[in-house]
Amino acid sequence: MSKTNINIAVLPGDGIGPEIMSEALRVFDAVKEKSKFTFTLEHGLIGGAAYDSCKSHFPEETRKLVNKSDVVLFGAVGGPVDKQQDEKWKGCEVNSILALRKELKLFANIRPVSISEKMIDISPLKLNPNKLPDLVIVRELLGDIYFGEKKRFFEGDLQVAEDICRYDSEQIEKIAHFAFSLARTRRKNVSSVDKANVLETSRLWREVVSKVSLEYPDVTLQHILVDNCAMQLITKPEAFDVVLCPNLFGDILSDAAAVIPGSLGVLASASKGAENKYLFEPPSGSAPDIAGMNIANPVGMISCVSMMFSVVFGENHISEMIKKAIDSVFDSGIFTKDLSNMARSKIVSTSQFVDEVLKKLK
Ligand code: NAD
Repeated sequence: MSKTNINIAVLPGDGIGPEIMSEALRVFDAVKEKSKFTFTLEHGLIGGAAYDSCKSHFPEETRKLVNKSDVVLFGAVGGPVDKQQDEKWKGCEVNSILALRKELKLFANIRPVSISEKMIDISPLKLNPNKLPDLVIVRELLGDIYFGEKKRFFEGDLQVAEDICRYDSEQIEKIAHFAFSLARTRRKNVSSVDKANVLETSRLWREVVSKVSLEYPDVTLQHILVDNCAMQLITKPEAFDVVLCPNLFGDILSDAAAVIPGSLGVLASASKGAENKYLFEPPSGSAPDIAGMNIANPVGMISCVSMMFSVVFGENHISEMIKKAIDSVFDSGIFTKDLSNMARSKIVSTSQFVDEVLKKLK
């Protein structure tokens, strides 16, 4: 970043979004003085929360806010799964987070998944302490079945629905270069996920990724079918380094990979867009089943703040400081309810967990 004052748009959204966002901002406030940058934070409405106030899931005011901001911190959007057809929630995700990704041209989503030796007991998987998983899922964000034409029509009495799955070679090349460049900074291994035995978009994906790989002879490439990848992510996650996925497979596999650290609530993700715009969001949804109860795990949202310092500002020392504080709270046996399967654990609320993180930061 060449500028010194950074504009951050804060979009808490719905459900647990506002709870985990306000807690993550307490951590941000505690470390921001250590940065060489200064920050201006502005809150905006998105999702059902925006619909309540102006009957739009992505109001013009929020559009202007994200466009003038350098970074977006995003909580979650959406209502209860059985209320998706209610006026307030109908089309909410498509109109808000998907529209936001399009608006900021967020083409790449990076979701790191790792676990430290001290945390190995949290994972429901039997992990080998000598070979701990440390992988990054790179997901293409602007193509695939999510953005293709959607149709509902009748053939006689039969109701039919269609979602067009589309990729072009330019989109695939862009995300492939991103993944190979990232792999060069890691263990130099890319696993490209597709369903090339069935889908034409996957066959194009495989061809283009193979072609791009020729420019990175120091990086090993393996192509893997999505069903096999889903199984191997659970049975031998330590075998993966960079997992390159089209949009839909990346969405599903990155949630599946959440089983490694033990909860969806502990993961973070960064999305990179045009003109060096960044959006950080935890991969979970709005978790309506636990919203407003002060029991959500805030670690994913706090880790978004941590990732922001390393990815956008290159301030790895601040990022590490936050990570160590979280690990040290876990290490002292303190968890939120989603990780309550831990023996000898003390279960605390969302805000109590953050109190502990702040104590460690001090
Ligand atoms: P979800 O991710 O919200 O919840 C799945 C399960 O994980 C729930 O049991 C929930 O309690 C738990 N969970 C999620 N985050 C947690 C946390 N931080 N701490 C503890 N437990 C946590 O998925 P869902 O229930 O299928 O979807 C709910 C809504 O979220 C839907 O409207 C969906 O469309 C939306 N959604 C939004 C996004 C987004 O905003 N990017 C992503 C996925 C789903």
